[in-house]
Amino acid sequence: MKKKIIAYNRVEKPVLEDLQKKYDVQFFKNIDTKNDPDFLKHVGQAEGIIGLELEVDRELLERAPHLKIVSNVSVGYNNLHVEELNKRNIMATNTPGVLTDTVADTIFGILIATARRIPELDQFVKNGEWVTEAVGEEHFGMNVHHKKLGIIGMGRIGQAIAQRAHFGFDMDILYHSRTRKPDAEEKFAATYLDLYALLRESDFVCLITPLTPETKELIGKREFQLMKKSAIFINGSRGRTVVEQDLIKALQNGEIAAAGLDVFEKEPVDPNNPLLQMKNVVTTPHIGSSTHETELEMSELAAYNLEEALNGRKPPNLINPSVWNGKKA
Ligand code: NAP
Repeated sequence: MKKKIIAYNRVEKPVLEDLQKKYDVQFFKNIDTKNDPDFLKHVGQAEGIIGLELEVDRELLERAPHLKIVSNVSVGYNNLHVEELNKRNIMATNTPGVLTDTVADTIFGILIATARRIPELDQFVKNGEWVTEAVGEEHFGMNVHHKKLGIIGMGRIGQAIAQRAHFGFDMDILYHSRTRKPDAEEKFAATYLDLYALLRESDFVCLITPLTPETKELIGKREFQLMKKSAIFINGSRGRTVVEQDLIKALQNGEIAAAGLDVFEKEPVDPNNPLLQMKNVVTTPHIGSSTHETELEMSELAAYNLEEALNGRKPPNLINPSVWNGKKA
């Protein structure tokens, strides 16, 4: 009998089809996982879960006695309650690396779009408002090159952003993370600062940490007040690393100049969210890693992690190695 697995939200078609040949796959998309009877029935039999943004908490795990592996199709894994998984010896994996450059491209794109006001000017042209030959200074933007970029979270993606900024745009790189990164300091002439010094000095503040209990609401009222009035804030991490109400106030009060946001406190973002009314805010729908090529690579890696675990081997991207070590002991 084929092993049962659940695929949730985003597994690219060729990968899903391949899994379907080998496993009994139930695919679900954007359902209420707490109450959908069909989903809950299949969870009760599933040995593996692969997908995006499925909240795997105690409640779900109590219904999933046969589960061996939860394979996220993302690098972030704030949807997984790792302690609860550990208690039950269930492996969890993510997809680091394959998306790094793609996310860095997206974030750098948002940064340029915000500084040079590209979405706003696009609308200006398309609305037929470009009626005089030379546009006025009310449409001018801000330089990106040779400015100071402060990166909070100098991991894989943070360093890929630094690479673009240093080699492509001659920016000065400031960074903050839990540990210092001597290699990055040398490669990108990057300077380590404590968080508050980074906020004070940066022209662009780019947040790209994971969402953890420590980074939840890392940036709020006090942090926005420390930033330059001309600063542009970019969030590519997760919405809840920022106190969104404080961001709204900081923009309304002119404490910072603009923001570029790929992530929001609540997703999909509420259409009445005041951020969506602000011309100096550039938004994208949590799409950092989503190119056709990279989504396929992420699905392939997630499927590989899943299959390795189901076949009794250690998956390459194990988030909770203690579970594996425990098994080996
Ligand atoms: P990573 O290589 O693990 O890097 C994370 C970095 O954040 C590390 O430098 C880490 O510092 C730092 N960090 C963690 N906790 C911190 C804290 N409390 N204070 C300061 N720095 C802290 O991860 P990655 O692959 O670069 O991905 C980072 C995050 O990007 C993901 O977890 C996800 O949330 C987000 N992301 C978003 C999208 C999108 O579509 N917008 C796509 C992919 C990823 P140390 O190195 O010192 O531990």
